[in-house]
Order: sequence, then structure tokens, then C-alpha cells
Amino acid sequence: MEFVKVLKTSKFLDPAQGFSATERYSEVRVDPLTGRTSRILDFPVKEVLRADVSRQVELSRGLCPFCPGVVEAVTPKFHPDLVSRERYSRGEALCVPNVFPYDENGAVCIICREHYLPLRSFTPRILEDALSCCFEYLEDVVIRQPEMVFQSVNWNYMPLAGGSIIHPHLQITASSSSTNYYAHVVPCLARYREETGRDFWADLRDEEQKNAERCISAAEGVTWLAAFAPLGVFDVMGILHEALRPGDVTGQTLRELVQGILNVLEYIDSLNMGSLNMSLYFLGGNPLFVPHIRICPRVSIPPLDTSQVNYMKMLHDESLTTLKPEDICKDLQAFWHGRGA
Ligand SMILES: [Zn+2]
Repeated sequence: MEFVKVLKTSKFLDPAQGFSATERYSEVRVDPLTGRTSRILDFPVKEVLRADVSRQVELSRGLCPFCPGVVEAVTPKFHPDLVSRERYSRGEALCVPNVFPYDENGAVCIICREHYLPLRSFTPRILEDALSCCFEYLEDVVIRQPEMVFQSVNWNYMPLAGGSIIHPHLQITASSSSTNYYAHVVPCLARYREETGRDFWADLRDEEQKNAERCISAAEGVTWLAAFAPLGVFDVMGILHEALRPGDVTGQTLRELVQGILNVLEYIDSLNMGSLNMSLYFLGGNPLFVPHIRICPRVSIPPLDTSQVNYMKMLHDESLTTLKPEDICKDLQAFWHGRGA
């Protein structure tokens, strides 16, 4: 397995130094599975200022369809052709159809009763219940619709990350159509097996543990890495060891998964970042595809609140960041060791 970095130097005459020649550096990193590239830029890192979301939270309270007292009346119920239950619930979590679905089976899981939870206020109980509730729904979908193999649990936390409702909720998809992510990853997994006779995920875990630069934690159920070629500002990846389908994510694996997510939320909060995207991917019937999770924070760039998504991500499908995965790994290790996943 190769971790390819292409180092780039650009030269220009710098007005800040009397137009003398100066150089800037960047890296193009090639994903060891897919060959897709990400860029690490050598720009000074600007401190992110904590956004005041209190007005956003208060304004959204009166309009919220997910708050207790309203949710039962205004959210839909599942159609009996598709699944066996009208709604799924566990603890505070409630899973209902998405009224704006992206696919045949689109659901939302309202994570908790509280209208707004800051990143540090999520607890193991809340997230374990919410994920288990999603997994129960996903397992039920394939009983009547076995072709719905592309399954994922996703999170847009807060509007900057694409969340249109403040009340914490996950988005769940079970589809017969892949997204581009699966379309890139799945053939590469097959090719890796063909060329090496080996399992990509086990090799990735071994390689990253050996080189120790990006392995945040490797416990019994989940290995956590700072992705070599990140898809966002940073990209924390958790690879599940034993599970293949949503119903397998229980016990120690679920506890480690949830504790890892909480550690990343705490780290994101410590950087004054307040938004994130998360996807937990499953693929039914393909043992080469090991379930894994990716979490990327979302930021806007001061002083103009400039979007981090520019033409590179939109139209060239290329991620840019100024943060090195190896530095992120070092920082995150403290959160794992401090809390013990
Ligand atoms: Zn609410």
C-alpha cells in the first residue's frame, strides 16, 4: 500500500518583501485505495472564532417539527409496503420518514428531545440510542426490500454543514443506487483483492498502526485514523473490525464507535468549530466493503464568512485543507487517552 505525496513549490515575486523571489509549498496526496487526490496547503492557519448560534437556536424553536409535543403530529409514518413499523424509537431517539427524501428509503432519526445540543452535550446514551434506532430501521428495510444494499447513516450538524433544522437529527438512506462514494470505493476494493489477494481494510489498519503517524486509536472494535488524503478540513475515519451490517454494530463495537464520535465532537468544539458532516457507510452483500465512518468539521473562513467549499470541491471534486492529518492525529490522541475509548 502506497501513501503518495507529491510536493509542489510555487514561486512568485513577493510585494511584501520588495518583490524579491519567494516560494510557497503544497502537497497533493493520493488516496491509497481510490487514487483520488486531496491538497494540503501551506497557508498560515487562521484561528476560527466561535460562532454565536443563540439567535439561530431561539428563532428556530417555534418552527421546529422535531420538538416534543409537535413531533408526533407533524412527522410522517412509514408506509406498510416498505417496513414493518410505522415509526422506530429507542430512548429519546425517534426514526420517521424524511418528507424530503433523496431516495426510495429516506428517513430521519431525531436524536433527542432537546431542541439544541452543543457538541459537548451529547452523551454516550443519547448517541447509542440514536444509532441503534437507525440500525433497527435499516435492518427492517432489507426484509421487504433486499435490493436496498447501499445503506448509510449521515449527519449534517448545524446549518453551516447543510442542516436545515437545528434540532439534532441523523439522515438515513437505504437505496438500490450507489452514491459516487460507493462507485469509487467498491471497484477499488475488488481490484485490491484481485491484485494482492488481501483485504484492504485489514491492510490499511496494519499499515497505519505500523507507521503510527495517523493512527489515533486501535481498540477491540474500531480503528480510528486521520485520513491520509482528507475529504474535508480534517477527516477522521473509524473502521469497524467485525461488523458487516447495521445489526452487527452492538455491544463493545457500538460503545467504541459512539465514544470515538464523542471524542471527535469534543475536539471539533475545542477548535471553536461548531458544525460537521458525518457518514457511516454500509454495503449489504459485499464482504469486501467494511463498514466505516468519516467525520469532517465544516468551517467558514474569516473575516467574510467565506465558504470553505469553492470551485475545487464543487467542480474539480478536490478537497483543500491547511491542516496536516499527522498533526490532527497527534491532537486527537489526547482526546482518546483523556477519555479512554
Ligand atoms: Zn426542536
